[in-house]
Amino acid sequence: MYERKVVFLDKDGTLIPDVPYNVNPDLVSLEPGVVEGLKLLKKEGYIFVVISNQAGVARGYFQINELEKVKQKIDLLLNTKGIEIEKYYFCPHHTDGKVQEYTLACECRKPKPGMILQATKDLEISVVQSWMIGDILHDAEAGNRAGCRSIVINNGNETEWVEGPFRTPTYIAENFLDAAKFICANSHETKELNDTKLAAL
Ligand SMILES: [Mg+2]
Ligand SMILES: [Zn+2]
Repeated sequence: MYERKVVFLDKDGTLIPDVPYNVNPDLVSLEPGVVEGLKLLKKEGYIFVVISNQAGVARGYFQINELEKVKQKIDLLLNTKGIEIEKYYFCPHHTDGKVQEYTLACECRKPKPGMILQATKDLEISVVQSWMIGDILHDAEAGNRAGCRSIVINNGNETEWVEGPFRTPTYIAENFLDAAKFICANSHETKELNDTKLAAL
C-alpha cells in the first residue's frame, strides 16, 4: 500500500491566473494565497503534482515544449518560498484539434482521471489520502473518478455547474487558502469515509 499523499493541482485558474493558452513566462504569476496554502499543506505532509489540460498544443497555438518555460517560472516562484512541485502532467490532446498527432479522444484530458491515475503509479501515491484542487467541476470529476477527494475554488471560472456522476466536490472553497485549510482540517478522515462519500455520488 502506497503511503505518499498528494494534493493534485490544476494550473490555470487555480495555481496561477488563467491567461488563455499562455506560454509566456512573463505572464505567469501565482494566485493569491497559493504560497500560504501550499506551506500549510506541506506541513501536513502533502506533496504537490500539477494536473493540467493543455489543448493549445492540439489546437496548434503552441508547441508542447513551450510548456517547459511555464513550468520553470512556476518552479521559480514556488522554490524561493520553499515549495516544490513534484511533477507536472499535461494533456496536450483535444478531439477538435489541428495538429494531427494530438487530435484524439484521450484518456488523460480532464474530466477523465488518466493523468492522476498515471501519477499515482509513477509516484507511488495513496490515492485515498490525496486531493484534487481545481477551479471547475471537470477538475473535481477527474479527482473523484481517480478516488481522491476534491475541492473546487469558486472564483467564477466555473459558470455552468453541470451536475452528474462524480461531479460533486468534497468542498467548494472561496479561495486557495480556504481550500488548503479545509484539507488540513480533514486530512485524517479515513478511507472508509472517503469510499462512502464516493459511493453516494
Ligand atoms: Mg483551471
Ligand atoms: Zn490527453
